[in-house]
Amino acid sequence: MPNDELAKRRWLAIPSDFRKKLENNVFCSNCGETTIVDYEVDSVNHDIILKGYCKKCNGEVARVIN
Ligand SMILES: [Zn+2]
Repeated sequence: MPNDELAKRRWLAIPSDFRKKLENNVFCSNCGETTIVDYEVDSVNHDIILKGYCKKCNGEVARVIN
């Protein structure tokens, strides 16, 4: 199974209310704490990583889930 598919399954295995909390607790270098939108799920070094955009300024943000 490809790495990103595995990461996606692991991400979706997290309860949705907890996933929401993680989506709403992303750091943006422009805005500080923000919400990630339009993100892709990938994995790096066995951690799940969300790559997407800041809801406030549309800048690129990422969040590692470990
Ligand atoms: Zn921002």
